[in-house]
Amino acid sequence: MKKSKISIVVPCYNEEESLPIFYKRINQVSKKMKMVDFEFLFIDDGSIDQTLNQIQEMRKKDPRVRYISFSRNFGKEAGMFAGLEYSTGDYVAIMDADLQDPPEMIEKMYEEITTLEYDCIALRTNSHVGYSFFRKIFTKCWYLLISKISSMQQIPGARDFRLMKRKMVDAILSMREYNRYSKGIFSFVGFHTKWIEYEAPERIAGKTKWNFWKLFRYAIEGIVSFSTAPLIFSAFVGVLFCFFAFIAILFIIIKTLLWGDPVGGWPSLACIIMFVSGIQLLFMGIIGMYLSKIYMEIKNRPHYIVKETEKDLEIKSC
Ligand code: UDP
Ligand code: MG
Repeated sequence: MKKSKISIVVPCYNEEESLPIFYKRINQVSKKMKMVDFEFLFIDDGSIDQTLNQIQEMRKKDPRVRYISFSRNFGKEAGMFAGLEYSTGDYVAIMDADLQDPPEMIEKMYEEITTLEYDCIALRTNSHVGYSFFRKIFTKCWYLLISKISSMQQIPGARDFRLMKRKMVDAILSMREYNRYSKGIFSFVGFHTKWIEYEAPERIAGKTKWNFWKLFRYAIEGIVSFSTAPLIFSAFVGVLFCFFAFIAILFIIIKTLLWGDPVGGWPSLACIIMFVSGIQLLFMGIIGMYLSKIYMEIKNRPHYIVKETEKDLEIKSC
């Protein structure tokens, strides 16, 4: 009988310190799991350190190593998308290169996906070791908000680390949107997912690639991609304000008819104008966010641009 194949997709951005350790550990796992074939697919996301050279060296020694190198940094979402597109395995795992997703867990995940009726084994964590206090609070609040405003199931602490069957991977790839928020996409495509909780260790080396601004943009991406609640909220507040304005108009008309004094109260009027203008600008901003996403979608730009793959390396060495 033909052996099954697991593709390990690893997005890497400036991971020269972590990569050799990652490869050593995943290689050990593959030696233990003799019943399956492996493919290690590294996505070099425009790294400016020795990441690509290291992947090329690995490829020279191990034909199971494959890679795609982007022409610049396109972000982890693009890296994961490319990895899924290029993967050829019957099962595909997505893992970080920094060993926060321990390679040793693949064995248990494979056992569960083959013996139990699941299409995906996914990991979640509550530990968040190494994340700043501020990032932990921000993440908690964000999950609280998104679970209220989106119909998609959002698992707190869900990582991108997961092992999926090919049919789930194909479903994910059928969603070609440019503004990608994978955690929402995984949930949108459905399939039977088993969640395993684990203690995510600290990054083995290097630094996290997320700063506050990147994280904030990603959080907005999640909301705009999977919820229209901000638009509905804007409309609701608009109706509420019209109602208050109507009451205020009635009050002023009656007051003027009974006691006169039509010009009094201009400071409060100035405050109201400023307040309402602020609300209007805020809601225009919300509409603008959705509009900007539509703008990027209709441009239909590629998710990533490939500079080289392992095939180019073979041509060079011929
Ligand atoms: N990554 C990437 N492109 C980027 C940023 C990150 O491919 O623009 C990769 C990174 O090399 C790592 C994974 O995505 O393998 C997770 O990144 P990181 O550890 O910085 O995220 P965190 O664990 O802090 O959420
Ligand atoms: Mg990490």
